[in-house]
Amino acid sequence: MALVLVVEDEPEIAEVLEGYLRQAGYRTERAADGVAALALFRAARPDLVLLDINLPGMDGLDVLRGIRKIDATPVVFLTARSDELDTVLGLELGADDYVTKPFSPREVMARVKAVLRRGAAVDDAGDPVVRVGPLELEPGRWRATYDGHGLPVTVTEFRILHHLAAHPGRVADRAELLEVALPDSDALERVIDTHLKNLRRKLDEAGGPHLIETVRGAGYRLRAR
Ligand code: CA
Repeated sequence: MALVLVVEDEPEIAEVLEGYLRQAGYRTERAADGVAALALFRAARPDLVLLDINLPGMDGLDVLRGIRKIDATPVVFLTARSDELDTVLGLELGADDYVTKPFSPREVMARVKAVLRRGAAVDDAGDPVVRVGPLELEPGRWRATYDGHGLPVTVTEFRILHHLAAHPGRVADRAELLEVALPDSDALERVIDTHLKNLRRKLDEAGGPHLIETVRGAGYRLRAR
């Protein structure tokens, strides 16, 4: 069963979350600060991380940066305030989803299941590798490369890029991309813009600039080459 790493410094909240996760059949690990979280992440390789933003010492955003240096494991943020939510939405690293406090454990569980299901759906499909010019996407492994250079994309970014690359030249609007990238989420459509911005930056850094086009008033498309 999937392993969920709960990173939360308030013991009562962590206990409730762990209780619900275990009841649903997940295995759990818990860390109360960022340093412990990264150490546990490296040691236990969880399938998903529930990450509080406001932690003592290293905050949740730094923890996410540390995780992203290792891999694209899905991360769901626990945010307490709307200004924190803005930070998450603007986050260049891209979290895979978020819930805002006060949340019900039921709500968190729904989000955890949805994010893990997104991963499983792609894994199980055994999708063939998608290639558009120098861009190569390997769904089973969440691996994206441009001209042989690895793209450090998140799972959410991978799904967006995969959807665009599967239909090169066709315009996808934000609602469509949101459904693909974050099904069952109540994330706002503007979340897609943030993921697109981050994707473009990563493509740019890998030598694939202007690969994703904005079609004003309609959406986004991948340039067919
Ligand atoms: Ca906290």
